[in-house]
Amino acid sequence: MSPAPPDLLVERVETIIVDMPLRRPHRFARVTVDAQPVLLVFVHTLGGVTGVGEGVVPGGPWWGGESVESMKITIDTYITPLLLNRPVDSIDELMRDITDHVAANLYAKTAVEVALHDAWARTLDVPLHTLLGGVARDRVEVTWALGAEPVEVVVDEIQRFIEDGTHRSFKLKMGAVDPVDDVERISAIAEKTSSSASLRVDLNARWDLLTSLRLLPRLAEAGIDLIEQPVPGEQMGALAEINRALPIPVMADESLRTPHDALRLVHARAADVWSVKVTKVGGLRRARDIVAIGAAAGIPCHAGTSIETGIGTAASLHLACAAAGVTWGSELFGPLLFAEDTLVEPLRFADGHLHLPDGPGLGVNVNMDAVRAHRRRGLTPG
Ligand code: MG
Repeated sequence: MSPAPPDLLVERVETIIVDMPLRRPHRFARVTVDAQPVLLVFVHTLGGVTGVGEGVVPGGPWWGGESVESMKITIDTYITPLLLNRPVDSIDELMRDITDHVAANLYAKTAVEVALHDAWARTLDVPLHTLLGGVARDRVEVTWALGAEPVEVVVDEIQRFIEDGTHRSFKLKMGAVDPVDDVERISAIAEKTSSSASLRVDLNARWDLLTSLRLLPRLAEAGIDLIEQPVPGEQMGALAEINRALPIPVMADESLRTPHDALRLVHARAADVWSVKVTKVGGLRRARDIVAIGAAAGIPCHAGTSIETGIGTAASLHLACAAAGVTWGSELFGPLLFAEDTLVEPLRFADGHLHLPDGPGLGVNVNMDAVRAHRRRGLTPG
């Protein structure tokens, strides 16, 4: 094989933590954040091209164990030396070598893998989706997610979005309070809004099997359309039992991080819909593999978010538009939560959809003024 063109070789990898302010505090089951920490990974090639990827977890290490701080150390210390002086178009080979040296750490790997794709696509002057096989669609519908807020706050927000036509479906976060109180809260919201909106709930793996079997049917009766991940990710048997017991679809999220998880979910028939996030699965290629497994099993995929800024959202959007099996819409609203985005030109949200941008690579450009303004000094916050 002839040597790689020198233009494609990685000259330098740069990692920068930024704390991007949110429009309003976002409440998860266990944490509330008013700024989202993001690790930006820049891959610079000898050809003078820079690719960017975003390492981000939803508000901290509670979801999957990684944090922006752990990602930065893992990439700087263990991954960057494996990339230097190697071509950005050997992505499968590079990711195999990275995985030989660094187990797990899928969020960190995603940031690197997306930056490699962006650099390669920019070098070729093609959109990133071309490297994934081209487009199956040029936009995805966007569900809006509401934090675990009181009834009146959530109802107001839903009604405002329905009136201005921005969103038609909504995801409600649960798991922050006692399960019985939580069901009452959601039922009260559904009573006021389910006739005009599609409502889904995300338990973020906070309940056990018995609580789920006892209380989830009440949510179905109240008009909730879909239940996301009621039980811990590894409990696929419990998830399958809940799926069989409920008249509405169950969506897997925490249970789905690898292609092997996808096979286990298929065998157990544990979920009717899969939430696929480029962030949690280790990159665009593994996300595409997982969507293909779902498609082969007749299971639709939904493009999930880890609350990425415009950079990571653009990566997820390219995947959602390139992978034919992403037929269950998206929750790619991340950029709408930020008071200031990481992009020069924001991604286009219109008619309840997020639209694929034009241009090479991710099709977006990083706002380096915003990066400088929110750059974290040192590794830890404050
Ligand atoms: Mg989820």
